[in-house]
Amino acid sequence: MRVDVLGAGPAGLYLAILLKKADAGHQITVTERNPPDATFGWGVVFSEETLGGLRDADYPTYLEITDTFARWDAIDIRYRGELLRSRGHGFAAIARKRLLAILQERCRELNVRLCFETDVVDIENFGVGADLVVAADGVRSLLRERHAAGFGPTIVPQGGKYAWFGTDLVLDAFTFLFRETEHGLFQVHSYPFDEHTSTFIVECQEPTWRTAGLDTMSEDESIAFCEDLFAADLRGHRLMSNRSVWQTFPRVENRTWRQGNVVLVGDAAHTAHFSIGSGTKLAMEDAIALANGFERHRDDVPAALVDYEAQRQPVVARFQRAADDSAEYFRRVGHHTGMAPTQFVFNLLTRSGRIGHAELTVRDPAFTSRVDNWFGGDQNTLAPPPAFAPLRLGELSLPNRIVRTGAPNGAGLAYGEFVAVTPEGRITPETPVLDSENAVAMAEAAHAAGARFALRLGHAGARGSTRPAAGGVDIALAEGWPLVAASARRYGPAPDSAAMPAELTGAGLDRVLDAFAKAAGMAADTDVDLVELDLAHGHLLAGFLSPLTNRRTDEFGGDLTARLRFPLAVVDAVRSVWPSGRPLSACVTVTDWHRHGLTVDDGVRITGALAEHGVGLVRVSAGQTVAECQPDYRRGFLTRMADRVRSEAGVPTVVGGYLTTVDEANTIIGAGRADLCELT
Ligand SMILES: Cc1cc2nc3c(=O)[nH]c(=O)nc-3n(C[C@H](O)[C@H](O)[C@H](O)COP(=O)(O)OP(=O)(O)OC[C@H]3O[C@@H](n4cnc5c(N)ncnc54)[C@H](O)[C@@H]3O)c2cc1C
Repeated sequence: MRVDVLGAGPAGLYLAILLKKADAGHQITVTERNPPDATFGWGVVFSEETLGGLRDADYPTYLEITDTFARWDAIDIRYRGELLRSRGHGFAAIARKRLLAILQERCRELNVRLCFETDVVDIENFGVGADLVVAADGVRSLLRERHAAGFGPTIVPQGGKYAWFGTDLVLDAFTFLFRETEHGLFQVHSYPFDEHTSTFIVECQEPTWRTAGLDTMSEDESIAFCEDLFAADLRGHRLMSNRSVWQTFPRVENRTWRQGNVVLVGDAAHTAHFSIGSGTKLAMEDAIALANGFERHRDDVPAALVDYEAQRQPVVARFQRAADDSAEYFRRVGHHTGMAPTQFVFNLLTRSGRIGHAELTVRDPAFTSRVDNWFGGDQNTLAPPPAFAPLRLGELSLPNRIVRTGAPNGAGLAYGEFVAVTPEGRITPETPVLDSENAVAMAEAAHAAGARFALRLGHAGARGSTRPAAGGVDIALAEGWPLVAASARRYGPAPDSAAMPAELTGAGLDRVLDAFAKAAGMAADTDVDLVELDLAHGHLLAGFLSPLTNRRTDEFGGDLTARLRFPLAVVDAVRSVWPSGRPLSACVTVTDWHRHGLTVDDGVRITGALAEHGVGLVRVSAGQTVAECQPDYRRGFLTRMADRVRSEAGVPTVVGGYLTTVDEANTIIGAGRADLCELT
């Protein structure tokens, strides 16, 4: 085969090596604009898990790379003047220049043609006549641009502003630094990569970058600024630039990675935010998968490319999600700077979901004990993991932080099923309407199992009068009862979906208000421990909050302040009869998952307003406001939203979202992303 590779980064060089190794008869040319010894950036970090793949793919380069590695197993975090160290993480790093030199040398050994200092601008004619054209030309790939209609790239800026410096300070751990300034928070990701040098990436949010004046500083001035800012950490050492200009990280994704005989590898195909340090690893693993595809399908180019894409896309998608979570964490880390150092560090270490409480216990048991003891409020005794720490809400004490709906099964808090405040507020004919007998019975069952009991009160609004769920969700009863909602809008577009509701007006609004207050008053005379109001699931009160379902022109419609008015009136009415020592909770849709609907920013505002009116706990929910929303259901999908509500609105949260393990609960609660975890 004749293979033309554009770009002599890790992806292009490593692929050339592997293809040439598989068949010395291939004619492979790698074209690169830079000279062989020039590149951007400093050191790149690999986690130990990456290395097995490199060993099996090409042992000589594996040996060279691993012999050169700087290795360490600790992560240091300097935050609020404290230094915390967590061990057992197994990292290795190498200078990017050295890595490329090793790969270039191996290419030469195998007779790969390397053409340096050749900037390809005539992209139309690149690779004409080749059997395979490889776009290994990085994040701003011209080849990808040339075939953009086919590849379908999506490129969006991710995270804040960063500059990739080097320093002659030789660290002995992966080091995160956080420095608060009058302009905002700056953070550093730093690690050693040889005996003389460390990578030192400085990052901040764009407004911080601007107010600090970095947008107008020269390269030398910005180095001086960063040296001054991190003088205490640099201890007299210098920062060094290698085209270290301030940039925004581009998140790259492509609908497909192959177009005829042109294939994308490495950053041209996908990027993963640098804060999880995986781009080089992913680029080299792409090369391995593509070479394997050719080995399996001989030189059948289309079959090999299909195989490559099928193997790699799901793996890369998983990494990109972890990287997205990590980038989002650093974008919002300023909201966590109120945390105590131990929790802040646990939150940081568990940010991308790849390490949880159990994994950290294996890597560094002393650190998780520290987290448990801090969480348990006692530094001297052995505390249980966070999910088993008791929680006090008002006068209510929960024995642990596990929540279940239905059967209590060891939970600290058990939620009952949805109970309607009036017969018209039922979802189906089987939905119970509150009377004191069923409230007493549900609370007794939970108490007998050692749990506290939360009564869920709601009104189905536009989603009422439907068949029981076993007969299909949101299918209208043939002969149901009349529906009311914030506005006259059907829940779903299908002809058999829930019926058209009437807009709730005048006396109707008062009746609903009274019904909620009466139900809460009734519950107050029983042993119900907590009342939760349903402001989610497309039900009546949620319908007032969302612009998708509230089209009113009176004082209850309009901007978010107006849309909050009626739900807040209900909260006030309930709070006035519900004993002040007993907590009032709300289940809230914090995003509609619809481009014209509520965003998480709105959700934070809503929960903040609810808290001001006496709601002491928020159970986070998403979507279901209208049938046409575009949900993003995946394990733990609510956790980031709960984290935002908790850290930005300052309200304790309950989070669910397909969480099933106590380890997830320990991680989320210990990291302060939620206060209670609902396990299914
Ligand atoms: C701040 C930062 C820190 C990072 N840290 C890490 C880390 O710790 N660990 C890690 O694994 N990854 C890290 N990465 C990611 C890593 O650098 C990339 O994922 C990796 O370099 C991708 O390899 P590649 O071969 O696909 O592309 P590149 O390394 O970008 O190589 C592409 C090559 O193509 C050449 N080229 C482009 N266009 C043309 C043209 N028209 N003509 C000729 N030549 C051309 C370029 O000069 C370049 O040499 C980091 C990235 C950033 C931004």
